[in-house]
Amino acid sequence: GDPAELITRYALPKLYKLEQEYGSFITGTIKKGFKKKTSDELKVTRKVFSVKGGLSSLTEALYKLSGKDSFILGVSDLKPEYKEGKFHISFSNSQNENITIIANKLITTSGAFSLDTLLTFIDNESLSKITNLKYANVVEVILGFKNWNGMNPDGFGGLIPSIEKRDLLGVLFMSSLFANRTPENGTLFTLFLGGMRKPEMYNKSENEIKAIVEKEFVSLMKPSEFEPELFKINYHKNAIPQYGIDSGERFDMVDKLENQYKGLIIGGNLKGGIGMADRIKQGKELAVRACG
Ligand SMILES: Cc1cc2nc3c(=O)[nH]c(=O)nc-3n(C[C@H](O)[C@H](O)[C@H](O)COP(=O)(O)OP(=O)(O)OC[C@H]3O[C@@H](n4cnc5c(N)ncnc54)[C@H](O)[C@@H]3O)c2cc1C
Repeated sequence: GDPAELITRYALPKLYKLEQEYGSFITGTIKKGFKKKTSDELKVTRKVFSVKGGLSSLTEALYKLSGKDSFILGVSDLKPEYKEGKFHISFSNSQNENITIIANKLITTSGAFSLDTLLTFIDNESLSKITNLKYANVVEVILGFKNWNGMNPDGFGGLIPSIEKRDLLGVLFMSSLFANRTPENGTLFTLFLGGMRKPEMYNKSENEIKAIVEKEFVSLMKPSEFEPELFKINYHKNAIPQYGIDSGERFDMVDKLENQYKGLIIGGNLKGGIGMADRIKQGKELAVRACG
């Protein structure tokens, strides 16, 4: 994101809270370290976490545990309506059958950009306060080497400050961070380009991205030659929401609409934080509210 646009209170609420409680986030971090922890806080390790077999193992496990019959996947023409305190949700299933479900609760977890086609029963003016959330597009590049001979990728990787004026946002050392990501002795990197700082990267062709990556990566990581066995490019549209100055108004509108349409719960990364940990935390909160 663009640090000049992001609002600490919304984008980094933990830092904001430390500053509010202790006067500065550095003092706060130190003082908090000495504070007696609750039994729940003691369980928090702050270690980087991952899931064996990739993150899809987590959703697959939830899918199995909840019962596969609880899910209808691959639907189209999804159209919820709100009538007399209930949601009438019509859609076509993967066999092209028209189905309507009548529900007391409707929860959304998709991005803000998807809500104007999903929540059509809400007036445009109110909904636009939510759907106007800006998202950064990101290009992700995965590089794999069988015999890496550049700088030792020992650690997390690095985010590149804008003052260096590079075309990369950062490099993560995936094979150092996570086990079982490569064949034995292989080395894996993930690079990010684009974001709010370099939005034009998202419109570059794969060949243009390859040329930029080679130049930047070689100058940063110094391999003697650049011949990755794996070179994969993923374009992520609407990748990272930007919690800017309009966030407070957006969160208020979410509360207002949830009060107006009883049973409507608007989740997703338009509120509650953007990292995986925040998303999982919100998932649990939504589940509790859904059952309440
Ligand atoms: C390249 C990249 C790297 C990242 N790296 C990290 C990292 O290292 N650590 C970290 O903590 N976070 C990272 N993040 C952020 C993290 O991955 C996201 O915040 C998280 O996946 C968002 O989860 P979510 O469930 O809110 O949204 P998503 O995972 O985006 O899920 C939203 C779902 O809604 C569906 N959907 C969209 N429109 C509709 C519609 N109209 N109808 C029905 N369904 C719809 C989509 O198909 C999608 O499945 C990264 C994000 C990106 C893009």
